[in-house]
Parts: sequence; structure tokens; C-alpha cells
Amino acid sequence: MSEQPYDVVVIGAGPGGYVTAIRAAQLGLRVAVVERGALGGVCLNVGCIPTKALLHSAELLDATREGARFGVVASDVRLDWAAVTRHRETVVKTMTGGVGMLLRKNRVETITGTARLRSAGVVAVSDAAGATRELATRHVVIATGARPREIPAIGAVFDGERILSSTQALSLPQVPASLAVIGAGAIGVEFASAYRSFGAEVTLIEALPRIVPVEDEDVSAELARAFARRGIAVLAGARVEALERRSGDVVVRLRDAAGAAREIAVERVLVGAGIVPNTADLGLADVGVTTDARGFIAVDAGLRTSLAGVFAIGDCASTTPWLAHKASAEGILVAETIAGHAPPPLDYRKIPGCTYCTPEIASIGLSEAAARQAGHEVKIGRFPFTGNGKATVLGQRQGFVKIVSEATYGEVLGVHIIGPHATELIAEAGVALSHEATAESLMRTVHAHPTVAEAILEAAHMAATGLAIHI
Ligand code: NAD
Repeated sequence: MSEQPYDVVVIGAGPGGYVTAIRAAQLGLRVAVVERGALGGVCLNVGCIPTKALLHSAELLDATREGARFGVVASDVRLDWAAVTRHRETVVKTMTGGVGMLLRKNRVETITGTARLRSAGVVAVSDAAGATRELATRHVVIATGARPREIPAIGAVFDGERILSSTQALSLPQVPASLAVIGAGAIGVEFASAYRSFGAEVTLIEALPRIVPVEDEDVSAELARAFARRGIAVLAGARVEALERRSGDVVVRLRDAAGAAREIAVERVLVGAGIVPNTADLGLADVGVTTDARGFIAVDAGLRTSLAGVFAIGDCASTTPWLAHKASAEGILVAETIAGHAPPPLDYRKIPGCTYCTPEIASIGLSEAAARQAGHEVKIGRFPFTGNGKATVLGQRQGFVKIVSEATYGEVLGVHIIGPHATELIAEAGVALSHEATAESLMRTVHAHPTVAEAILEAAHMAATGLAIHI
């Protein structure tokens, strides 16, 4: 047992844990972070960052192929898969190295090993050699994240070869000739998009009636159209009944939206059907930390668990959405709380979601249906990128900005974007929602010309007045 207790022991060094540790140390606390794998967690190693590297290569390939339209003629345009892999690995190495540097710079002690709670004030850490040490601490922050969910009932069990998790699908030896993707959430549509650009025949299978089901219905419909145009076979409302591994391929047996039985033979299957939290081996039940039926740790608005002094953040906690930036925001809030500050709670209704498929999707706040369901009388402002000059210059006129505003005072309740640079554009909507902006105040904000952001301005005009200039 260490003599002097830590102020905080953080378990897990993903975007939740490392951010907590750094901010806690910046606020003068003595901090250790325990990590059994690589610094940076899923996000930096096998999630957000490497998938975006893959998607960037896919976009560049598409753009290069389309170059002739813009007067840039390239011959022998082809994919160098080894170089795609190298770029992805270099990005990951750079970013994870950066996390190590930041932890050292802030005097956070990094301990390699697997942590388990002995009590609210003691964390046991076992290393690879089997040795265990105990850390005394005033506070514990659990930030152990989550992993891809298998579905054994249909044979969706990851084998790393034919039936793949998102982690395994990142580092394939070559582009598969054909790929079935089960689940059309963020993971499903991002991998479907990238591997389609790389040349695979892709079938996207979603159990719910529409793809990207958490998004506004208009966005789902637009993405389905865009994917169909790109040659991605989209099967929404389809139920996978069994995966059968054969020597050279996998047979996916499913019932389509009309109830008809279908079989698809593919080289590989990617399962993007949600996550399970990494909470089973932490000793939570023994010390009195409550989890829900699926294993996510129950927390209050201050991210406190049922055990005093123990907090939980990120994908292992019951708060949603399970996104890296939510984890980091929660980490900062917890670090400030432990340091004796009184930060305001997070507003979980105002967390942006970004999906980096082609075309990109980003949204924040209430969808039109959710706003109506919540009892709001709504005004919708919708503006297509066909009316936007910069999108026309880019040759990316597909998609729209949709603003959902409340009818009486005009408060912006939600913003939904599908189209060029959607994932960057959404930042403006985040500021608008956090400042309780109205459609009129957005409309009166002068936007630079020519920018794709003007589509937000015009959608605000539509929401506030029913009139836009360029449509
Ligand atoms: P998800 O829960 O977002 O989506 C899973 C989808 O799979 C759902 O639409 C669900 O209806 C469908 N599904 C589940 N079982 C099915 C079945 N048997 N047959 C057909 N469809 C089925 O989860 P995900 O896409 O796996 O992503 C995991 C987590 O990682 C999520 O929290 C996600 O938000 C996050 N993530 C985020 C990003 C991003 O923000 N860009 C990227 C990747 C992952």
C-alpha cells in the first residue's frame, strides 16, 4: 500500500480517463491513471481516430477518381492498401504518444496493469507478471469504456477472420471483395462507406426500419438514397437470423422488411450492433457500486456512483450518448468536482453526434419527431446544399441543413446536417443550442460567403420567416 494516498486514481486512459487525469492534475491534485492496454483507449487506438484515417483515405480515393471533373486528370489511380494501413498506424502512434507526453507533462503517474476495486479508497492493480499492488486514494474515477457487442444467438461471434468486430475490420490484410455489415449505427455506416469506396460490394443490414435510426428521419432517408447511388445495398427493417461460416465465405440468412427469407453469401461480415461496458471484472458488486441490467454503472447528474468517492464516466457509465467527447466532458466535470469546484451538470440533450460516412452526417438536439413528441409546436427550416455556392464549387451539392425550432419564441431545439463538412458545421449549432439561440438570432448572424456554413444561415431564415434567398 502506498504511504500517501492519491487524491484520484483513474481507471482507464481513454478520452474519458486521460482527460480526467490531466484536468485533475492541473487543478493541483495528486493523480494516478491505471491502464491495462494502450494509452488513448478505443478512441485513439481502434476507434474514432484510426477509422477517420481510413475514411480520409477513402475520401481521397473518391476525390482523385472524380478529379477530371475539376480539371485534374490523374492516371493509374489505385489503392495502395499497405500505405493506407501505414498512414492509419502512424496517426495512431502520433496521437497515443501525445497522450503519454501530456500525462508526463502534467505529472500524472501512469501505472500499467489491471485495476480492481477493493473498497472506495483502495484500488488493487495486477501487472502482467501477476504481481499486485494496492493504491490508497481519496477518489476513484472508473473510465473503463466498452467493447463491441457480439450476438451469439445468430452466430455473430467475432473470429477475427470472417466475422469481424469494428476493431478487426480496421486492420484487414486486404479489401474484401464483399462485405455484409450488420447494424447501421455509426460504426456500420462508416465502415460500409469506407469499404465501398475501396471497392468492396457492401450490403448494409439494419433491424430497425431505417438506417442511422438515432438521426432525424429526413437524414436517414437522404443517406439511404446516397448510399444506394454509391452502390451500397441497404436492407432496413431486416432481421438477421443466422450467420453460417463456410470455407470461403459466410452465408447471412435474414428476413427482409417484407418478411421474405433471403440468403447473402459474402467474404466477410462486420458486426456493428452496439457495445457492452467493461465493468464485469472491477469488483463492483463486492464494494457496492450499482450497475444496470446490461452492466453500465449507474450514476447521478454529478457522475457519482452508489459508492461515495467513486465516480464513473464515459462508455462504462449509464449516461448517453456513448461518445468520446461526452466522456471527456464528463471527465472534466468530475475532476473539477473532486477539486472542490461546483461545475454545472452536463446537458445531455445538447451533445453533438457526428458520423463520418460519405456524405457526412452531424446533428445536435431534438429531431423533428422527438420535438413534436415532447409536446413542442415546431417550425422547420430546411435548406438544401444545391442552393449553396461553396457546395457547388466543391461538387458536393447533396444533402441539407434542417433546423427544428420551437414555434412561439423560436428557440432552436435541434440542428440536423447531411452533406459537405457536416461534422465541422455542427460546432456552430452546438454554440447556438448552448446559448439558447433562436432561429432569428441565427438568421441575423452574418455568415461569411462563400462557405458551406451559409446553408445553416439559410435554414435559419427558413425557420424564422419561411423565406430563404437562394431557393
Ligand atoms: P449503435 O448502437 O449506434 O448502432 C447499432 C445498430 O445496430 C442499431 O441501429 C441497431 O438497431 C442495429 N442492430 C442491432 N442488432 C442488430 C441485428 N441483429 N441486426 C441488424 N441490426 C442490428 O452502435 P455501433 O454503431 O455499433 O457503435 C457502437 C458505439 O460506438 C455507439 O455508441 C456509437 O455511437 C459509437 N461510435 C460512434 C462513432 C461516431 O461518433 N462517429 C463511430 C463509431 C462508433
